[in-house]
Amino acid sequence: MPTLIISEKPSASEKIAEALADGKVEKINKNGSYYFKITRDKKEIFIVPAVGHLFGLALKSKKAVCPDFNVEWKPTWKIAKINEYAKKYYDNLEETAKKCDEFIVATDWDIEGDVIAKNILRFLCGKEDAKRMKFSTLTKQELNDAYDNALKNMDAGQVQAGLTRHYLDFYYGINISRILTSSIKKFGKVFSIVSIGRVQGPMLNFLAEREKEIKAFTPVPFWQILLNYNIQGGSFEAMYEKKQIWEEETADKVLSECKNKTGSIKEIKKTKKIKEPPAPFNLTTLQTEAYNLFSYSPKQTMDIAQSLYTSAYISYPRTSSQQLPSQLNLKSIIAKLSKQNIYKPLCEKLLSKSKVEPKEGKKSDPAHPAIHPTGETPKKLSAPESKLYDLITRRFLSCFAEPALRESMSIIIDINNNIFRSSGSRTLESNWIEFYGPFAKFQEKTFPDIKEKEKIQIESIQKLDKETAPPSRYSQGSILKELEERVIGTKATRAGILQTLYDRGYIRDKSIEVTEFGVNLIEVLSDSCKSIISEELTRDFEKQMEKINKGKESMEKTLEKAEGLVSEIVNEMKNNEEKIGTKLSKAVIEKRENESTFGTCPNCKTGILKIFYSPRTKKRFVGCTSYPNCKTGFPIPLKGKLQKTDKVCDKCKTPIIYVYRQGMRPFKMCLDPKCETKAEWGKKKAKAKAETEEDKETERIIKEEILSSEKPKSKKPKAKKQVKTKK
Ligand SMILES: [Zn+2]
Ligand SMILES: [Zn+2]
Repeated sequence: MPTLIISEKPSASEKIAEALADGKVEKINKNGSYYFKITRDKKEIFIVPAVGHLFGLALKSKKAVCPDFNVEWKPTWKIAKINEYAKKYYDNLEETAKKCDEFIVATDWDIEGDVIAKNILRFLCGKEDAKRMKFSTLTKQELNDAYDNALKNMDAGQVQAGLTRHYLDFYYGINISRILTSSIKKFGKVFSIVSIGRVQGPMLNFLAEREKEIKAFTPVPFWQILLNYNIQGGSFEAMYEKKQIWEEETADKVLSECKNKTGSIKEIKKTKKIKEPPAPFNLTTLQTEAYNLFSYSPKQTMDIAQSLYTSAYISYPRTSSQQLPSQLNLKSIIAKLSKQNIYKPLCEKLLSKSKVEPKEGKKSDPAHPAIHPTGETPKKLSAPESKLYDLITRRFLSCFAEPALRESMSIIIDINNNIFRSSGSRTLESNWIEFYGPFAKFQEKTFPDIKEKEKIQIESIQKLDKETAPPSRYSQGSILKELEERVIGTKATRAGILQTLYDRGYIRDKSIEVTEFGVNLIEVLSDSCKSIISEELTRDFEKQMEKINKGKESMEKTLEKAEGLVSEIVNEMKNNEEKIGTKLSKAVIEKRENESTFGTCPNCKTGILKIFYSPRTKKRFVGCTSYPNCKTGFPIPLKGKLQKTDKVCDKCKTPIIYVYRQGMRPFKMCLDPKCETKAEWGKKKAKAKAETEEDKETERIIKEEILSSEKPKSKKPKAKKQVKTKK
């Protein structure tokens, strides 16, 4: 009988088939799904894809008991309509498995890959265990090695840890969401599903604490003195030695002392510094760098990296490692990369060295090496894929290059015994900086060949009014590092959890701001049951799962503990149900109001701009509440969540709104589609183009609405009948 290889995704199954086949690869189509049939050493092998998880947890009973821990694994396509596409892959695996007697797991080598495979094995193949292929790249050579040296069993610890995580998250998610939702319904008479997960709670709490600090911050004024001067024909800036002058009189005194005086160079300090090349990327550093350079959200970077991995262009991205072990045959990867013209000169430089040794970071990962290119030349990449690929490849090559030498220079200027400082820096020997190319961000600020005692010409001296700033908000780049240090979530889950907080409207904007609703939710939780938002508790569970992974702790014991804790939380919440329900329902209503109103109408200045739904087409648009006296109306994107910002457009005074759309970074825009601020980005991108299409469509609807209201059939049209607010 043939052997069945289980792969995680369709794209990976094709790579595996191509790599392992002795001869041709046959693709067998089956009701929209497919598998690959190959022979290897005269053995017939079927490579069958899953589409990620084919099973998920669900409650056994539909009765609303809370807490409820009576759960079972169910096919995902039976759990939610949105997963129906998975049924054909499920059926395909189930049928193909009947024809096979040997099974090999070739899903991604990590906890989730193991859970996916374990469930397929036990529920669709009737097996508890199977051989396991272990690989970090989908290249032909590595897949062949992984097949030839397949492990006899799955990693039992990793499987148990993975299953435990699913149970834990489900126990928390379902029970806490139920009690929150029911308390709102009971005491606020509104329906809204409010949920907070095991890791989302601590993550949101942590962000809300920063939000509180920012809100509570009182700025203190201070002054700075800026000197603009000219030396040898060039203009430069210098700051007064005290960066923060707390009394204005002191600043004025300095100004008057410098008035009509001449200045000269008192001292020049030069220091040379060796800059080591950066360590190769792990997932967190890649996400942070891609956010800083390209503004990709961590989730976006994860998705792009995943697709580069499944095309066999880079190694497995969900890794903590910053190390490149020598078994990787690094020299041959560099040699392969040299086939790409842009990397050729860089690779040749490295290959001409006697030793090819990478600079590595401290973090390691037993499962995978640092993210690195495989050497395969990419065929067709989308623009974001190609940017990320270039970043990963240049980072990889940089690791092998020599350290760079930088010089920084500090110039001390004396004007009537007042000291000012100018500083600059430059690269003396670029080395790895050249390899990292456009991604190396170093300031190059140089001075002419200045000597001490040389005179400067003062161009201006100004007093700058400043004030102390509150602690800064986290960006999607800086938050990851902080979460990693606090052990909130895991490398593989953080980006997704952050995205969920956005999707649920708990946080917003690029520099992360916790919404009023998010703050309310955290307040309610910390008043009524602190343990949901406790960092320690989540950290504790992470540790427990690591123990399970190592075979030092059992799933049963951990779940028993979790059941106890969730029961405690639920009981505590039940005791506070009225308080929770009253406060949260108020927050829900406020949130809805926030999501449907955008501020004062720029035309009549009395009405409020608000979302209305066309009674005929059911499509939404923004209109003025003073209708029919004011006929202001704007088309809005038909999809995605909108939120007011309390800001108006600089150009046309129309309110600015936030737009949240799935798979996109939230952005701000002026409500008026004809505004000049929008004209620019309307042209630029395909993404924005799709939006203009949508805008056109909504514009048409609005025009029709307004036109039909201008020619009323009856003489006194009732505004309320023309436009209806969503309930
Ligand atoms: Zn108006
Ligand atoms: Zn505008």
